[in-house]
Amino acid sequence: MGKVVITADMCKSCRYCLTACKKDVIALASKSNRFGYKPVEVVNPDACIGCGMCAIMCPEAAIEVYKD
Ligand code: SF4
Ligand code: SF4
Repeated sequence: MGKVVITADMCKSCRYCLTACKKDVIALASKSNRFGYKPVEVVNPDACIGCGMCAIMCPEAAIEVYKD
């Protein structure tokens, strides 16, 4: 229903998006990005409902949500 695209190098690892997502679609990655932050990654894409809450919460505009 939704597709989430995360630009890993823009993520500052604040985790606001993790709090916002009630579907456990995203999680912190184990590897750091080029700036030393552990970015969020998509771990459960099929559960995404395309609500956009993760993108709204992200202060870095690192998340885009597409609805199909
Ligand atoms: S769009 Fe909604 S369901 Fe999908 S990852 Fe973001 S908060 Fe979770
Ligand atoms: S809200 Fe944005 S900056 Fe914060 S952890 Fe999520 S993707 Fe990264």
